[in-house]
Formats: sequence, C-alpha cells, structure tokens
Amino acid sequence: MRKKIVAGNWKMNTLPAEGVELAKGVVAQRGEVCECVNFIVCPPFTHLAQVAEALQGSTVELGAQNCAAEAKGAYTGEVAASMIAALGCKYVILGHSERRQYYGETSETLNKKMEQVYANGLTPIYCVGENLDEREAGNHFAVCKQQIEEVVFNLTEEQFKNLVIAYEPVWAIGTGKTATAEQAQEIHAYIREVLASKFGAAAAECPILYGGSCKPSNAAEIFAKEDVDGGLIGGAALKAEDFIGIGKGFMA
Ligand code: PEP
Repeated sequence: MRKKIVAGNWKMNTLPAEGVELAKGVVAQRGEVCECVNFIVCPPFTHLAQVAEALQGSTVELGAQNCAAEAKGAYTGEVAASMIAALGCKYVILGHSERRQYYGETSETLNKKMEQVYANGLTPIYCVGENLDEREAGNHFAVCKQQIEEVVFNLTEEQFKNLVIAYEPVWAIGTGKTATAEQAQEIHAYIREVLASKFGAAAAECPILYGGSCKPSNAAEIFAKEDVDGGLIGGAALKAEDFIGIGKGFMA
C-alpha cells in the first residue's frame, strides 16, 4: 500500500504568527480525516521553528520548500538541509517549477540538493511537470521523463525508497485550471513506468502526488485514480479548512 499524502506548499505567504495559526487550524481539524492520510505543511523558512512547535503532539508533519545545494559555509542567504532537519523537518520540496523558472534551478543543482537532503535524513518531494507550450506540443511525457532521468535516476535503490514525486503541470499551478483526473492518471502511470524502468518493483511503492489548482471540490475525483497518491497543494493550503477538505477527498 502506497502512502497517501496531502502536502501544503505555503510558498512566500503568511507572517510567522499567521503561519502558527494556520498550523494550529490544520492540527485541530486533522482528526476529521483518516489517519491513513499523511498531512505535511511546508511553511517559509522563517517560521519553521514556530510551526514545528505548533505541530508537536500531532501527526501533521513538517517540510521545507527548498534547501541549499551545499552542506555549509560561505553561501550568503542560503539555508542548509542540516538546519532544516535540526528544526524538525522531515521533507523538502525540490525542483518546484517556480524554482526552476525564477531561480534557474537545473538538474545539476537539484542533484546536489538531493545529496544534501538524503545526507540529512530528509525525504525529497521532487517536482516534475511541463509548461503549456510543452503540453500543447505533446511533449509532456518527454519533459517529465527527462526531469526524472536527470535527477531521480542518480539515486541509489535505498534512496529511491524514500522519495515522493509530485507531478505539477506548470499550466495548472495557481491558474485555477486543473488537469482532468484522466490527464493526471495518464501521466502518473507513465511516470511510474519510467521509475520502474530503473528501479523495478520499488516503483510501485513510490507516492506520486498531483499538484495544480487542487481544491476540495476536485480532489476526490483526482485522488480516485489508481496512480494518484495525493496532492501537493499551493493556494488551497493557506486555509486549514480547504487543506483538510482536500484530504477528505480520499474518503469520498
Ligand atoms: C504548487 O505550487 O505546488 C501548487 C500546486 O499550487 P496551486 O495549488 O496554487 O496551483
């Protein structure tokens, strides 16, 4: 049985006090959803410590949105994976399309970040996905395959067992446009096939999340698909009720 995951990417939103309130709201409502669904919140670096405290005693887990490609040293403004781990994070989002697009993250950088993430006992949530032009040209399969081959294929079998993939079509992120459940299933199944070509049977255990304008009203239909194991949620993760409502999609 693959893990079911609903992960919230808060992006650059909330001040620390607001983040703590949001986390408390998620904790308070978490009991409305089966324990079989794993909830993860990924606040900005600045309030990881406070949110960690707010999550204490609950099953809601903590993640970061990024980490440095180096272990430590003269890298002004960067945050090391070891620092994130020390604050209680279990997960790190890597390769989000916004990081690829606005901060020039390449597979080369992401390979180094992966190394740091695993060296510090964290689990990467590795994002892949095509932009609108690539989708319209029918290149979405090739784009996802390349993003996986260039990074995930460099992992050891042991590391691969501790990986979450998020398929996030760039054209669906923050746009209100969602991939149909069929489109999500088609590409999730394909991604699993690509993973199996390298890691064999272990690919059947790898959670693959859908991300892109996921909300309580469309989660159930998308999560019902065989190869969709949950969601990476942006906008709707900023309201505890919506975030938990998405988790309820597994129970519909
Ligand atoms: C995201 O950025 O990871 C995301 C899925 O955003 P949204 O849910 O707002 O489309």
